[in-house]
Amino acid sequence: MTSRRDFLKTSAGVGVGAAVGMGSPRSLAGAPAVLPHRVAPVAIASGNGMEAVATAFRAVSAGGDTLDAAVEGVNIVERDPNDRSVGYGGRPNLDGVVQLDSSVMHGPSRGAGAVACLEGIKTPSRVAVDVMRYTDHVLLVGKGAQRFAVSMGHRVEDLLTEGTRRQWIEWRARMSATDDYLTPEEAGLRVPPFEDEDDGMGMLDSHDGVRPQGTINCNVINQDGDLSGVTTTSGLAWKIPGRVGDSPIVGAGLYVDNDVGACGSTGRGEAVIKTCGSHSVVELMRSGMSPVDACLEALRRVVTFTAEERLRNEQGRPGFNVNYYAVNKNGEYGGAAIWSGARFAVCSGGESRREDSAYLFERGR
Ligand code: ASP
Repeated sequence: MTSRRDFLKTSAGVGVGAAVGMGSPRSLAGAPAVLPHRVAPVAIASGNGMEAVATAFRAVSAGGDTLDAAVEGVNIVERDPNDRSVGYGGRPNLDGVVQLDSSVMHGPSRGAGAVACLEGIKTPSRVAVDVMRYTDHVLLVGKGAQRFAVSMGHRVEDLLTEGTRRQWIEWRARMSATDDYLTPEEAGLRVPPFEDEDDGMGMLDSHDGVRPQGTINCNVINQDGDLSGVTTTSGLAWKIPGRVGDSPIVGAGLYVDNDVGACGSTGRGEAVIKTCGSHSVVELMRSGMSPVDACLEALRRVVTFTAEERLRNEQGRPGFNVNYYAVNKNGEYGGAAIWSGARFAVCSGGESRREDSAYLFERGR
């Protein structure tokens, strides 16, 4: 249950952030808070989640559970071979193997489930749901996660597509000039350059300025103010096998507190893990900040924690991006990134749309 005090505290954040979306008509009108809690449902996601938010919004509007709705939404992207940052068709690790990470949180039941380094399953978010619903654990990894998935009826399949295999083969060939793999030029092949897609986040956010990455996070609130979230990814391309990013770490890549709000992240996972990113955003919302201000404050912590010189640009700023997407108990939402140009997907009825994320630094300045 939301206490009246908490409700009023979150209401206090309304109107503070310039780029915050005002999901609740009631807050727009500035009318006083009235219990019982009724909000305008909304689904928000990273920029690659346009279809996901539309699907999630439809499901939740039809009375569906918020987590089922969010997971149904991201399943579209997980199954899409053309999204190279999530599920089937995600970019592989250093060994050419796709390893997937995902977490889910269900606000009303306070449930959480996650999988990391999961191989061969197109929809890791569904396995995360199974961990939450059918085990006494929160996080399963690697072979154990796969065995569990198979026991629950998930099919093991090859997750590499022709495109991602070709990218990986070319990456391997370019790794060193002193190994025996031939680059396309040395082999006399004329292959088109990597066609890195616009992932809808404004520009493809690179972990280290070189390697592509991506993820989908989706958070949903229904008319009763119940919240859920999911984050799912193939993580950093060409990563060291066994590397786990922020996406499957409860409190890092995702956090939901049904009394306060939900938040998820995309971008450099290591930076989000070090700062307990999504949990920090939810705690900042609990203290009264609007979603967008909470996201910006958590990003300032990422900047402070980026002590490594190799990760900073000439101005001493992070040479990578992190994005947060947050929604509070009133259905107000916002997105923010370290760098300008990021966008996130929203559906609050009708067509889904992209909105600009707030940011700390302007690109190119
Ligand atoms: N956060 C993901 C990870 O670090 C990648 C991304 O969102 O780009 O695994």
